[in-house]
Amino acid sequence: MIYPDEVKNEVRSQNDIVDVISGYLSLKKSGSNYMCCCPFHQEKTPSFSVSRQKQMFYCFGCQKGGDVITFVQEYEHVNFMEAMKILADRVGYKLPGIEMTREEKQKMDRKTKLREINTVAAGYFHFLLTKSERGKLGYTYYTEKRRFTDETIKNFGLGYADVYADDLYKYLKKRGYPDDLIRDTGLVGFSEKYGPQDKFWNRVMVPILDIQGKCIGFGGRVLGDAKPKYLNTQETELFDKSHNLFALNIARRSRRRGIILCEGYMDVITQHQAGFDNAVASLGTAFTQGQAEMIRRYTQEVYLAYDSDNAGTMAAKKAIALLQSLNMSQRVIDLSPYKDPDEFLAAEGAEAYEERIRNAVPGRIFEIRQIRKELRFDDPEEKAEFVRRAAEIIAGIEDVAKRSSYIEAVSKEYSLDQEVLRQEVTRIGLSGIKSRNKNDQAYGAGRDAPGESERGQPNFRQRQVSYSQNQAILLTWMVDRPELFQKLKVYISEEDFSGKAKEVAEKLYRQMEEKGEVQPAVIIGDYIEESDKSEVAGLLSQELPRELSFSSDTATVEKALTELVRKVKTEREDDAMKKKEGSMFEHARRKNEIQRLVVKL
Ligand SMILES: [Zn+2]
Repeated sequence: MIYPDEVKNEVRSQNDIVDVISGYLSLKKSGSNYMCCCPFHQEKTPSFSVSRQKQMFYCFGCQKGGDVITFVQEYEHVNFMEAMKILADRVGYKLPGIEMTREEKQKMDRKTKLREINTVAAGYFHFLLTKSERGKLGYTYYTEKRRFTDETIKNFGLGYADVYADDLYKYLKKRGYPDDLIRDTGLVGFSEKYGPQDKFWNRVMVPILDIQGKCIGFGGRVLGDAKPKYLNTQETELFDKSHNLFALNIARRSRRRGIILCEGYMDVITQHQAGFDNAVASLGTAFTQGQAEMIRRYTQEVYLAYDSDNAGTMAAKKAIALLQSLNMSQRVIDLSPYKDPDEFLAAEGAEAYEERIRNAVPGRIFEIRQIRKELRFDDPEEKAEFVRRAAEIIAGIEDVAKRSSYIEAVSKEYSLDQEVLRQEVTRIGLSGIKSRNKNDQAYGAGRDAPGESERGQPNFRQRQVSYSQNQAILLTWMVDRPELFQKLKVYISEEDFSGKAKEVAEKLYRQMEEKGEVQPAVIIGDYIEESDKSEVAGLLSQELPRELSFSSDTATVEKALTELVRKVKTEREDDAMKKKEGSMFEHARRKNEIQRLVVKL
């Protein structure tokens, strides 16, 4: 691989990091930076900062950082080449042809080809639905049974798979695609006995697009009574069911509040048609953590519109628990007396649905209502059990005021003695704290210690650093105040830094020399590994002491800098002494010299 530096720099300079990240997250100005809650770890107070001047982002919570390209890579879950493409497309920049290793090219070509075959298949299914004689069967299903308009059919690219066993296969062959690629899309199975066999036939088809709007798989509903009623593309290298959501590519741009999570594609399409274009669905499997994390990049609020039958209720409870574990808000839309959003909208219309969304109840209230349905209040044992189980749910709320208002609301709704419920909640809460404290010791205490919630984030551990905090503060100051950097060069050189800080200092000094300016993002771009990028971003994103800030007067800055430079130099000198480089006499002389050094700007 890789693009020459000029191309990387061009793409980077045309895509201002604040503009790009603003397209994904809502940034708030804070001093000279922009802040928001980090999309890469879970938090309630913002520690994710973006600097326009440095063209860098850095999270003080999880220590992830980098330039605009890194951000797109991490956020969109794409590789470097794909991130470059997204950013180049964003500004209409044409990337030159690139040299990739054969292996890279094959892998990239393969994925592109698999998407292409899926897209071609979607086009074919759509053609059959709208133009062919037999497709009328599917068309009638969509327009009459589902009440989809032609516009909806077009927007979602809905289709029909014919009754023949190898109809699609023949079509794809005619287009020149080889058997192995066709097989790897999951659209056609090959058996020794029967030869190539289409996976989908006699079904109405729903293409499933990834977040960038590329077709990666299908859902199909059978016409008639055959089983299974709903069939999805199997998991393939393209179709990752736990990291994609149906219609999220549209919903993420919706102006509506939150995301409506449903069970089926048809429910989603019906809702979009009725104006609720923030509806999404999981891909025929249970809602996963990966999917919840995808939603969290756009919103913290999730509305559940699951079927009101038993299976739907069970699935809703699981989704609620998952969302709670990620600190996301969850509300359940009551669809009764209808089975699903589709039935509800057909019978009551969009306005009534809007009303139900407004009245959606928090997940915990929903759970308590479910428990109530299982128990008889005329039986004192069962009523006591209800209080206990309701209290268990309420005790899980951390916020004191919130917990109290739940106690109030629940005791009112079920005519319970408020004090009894409160005592029960407190009792359960106390025993919970005891067991939680035990866990804390294992992690090392502290609110932001890498505990349960951050599990699975490999970069969360405190990094082993090869430089001192003072070095990092000094470098941060240099890139914050490049106009003063020139003057500081007299007092401190690359040699005064160590490890990664030395590498970065060398690059900074060189940039200053050659270009007369510093470009931290370019330095980050020199590194390949994500962990290196984050480390460099962290190095250049230190919180500066007040004396070194823009607002301070020159004398104060000079005094603070003098101190800082002396510390950095002394640390290096002590280090050298430990390693027994040079004579003791020399060390003593140099340390004396350092103590006499005074920075003048
Ligand atoms: Zn973070």
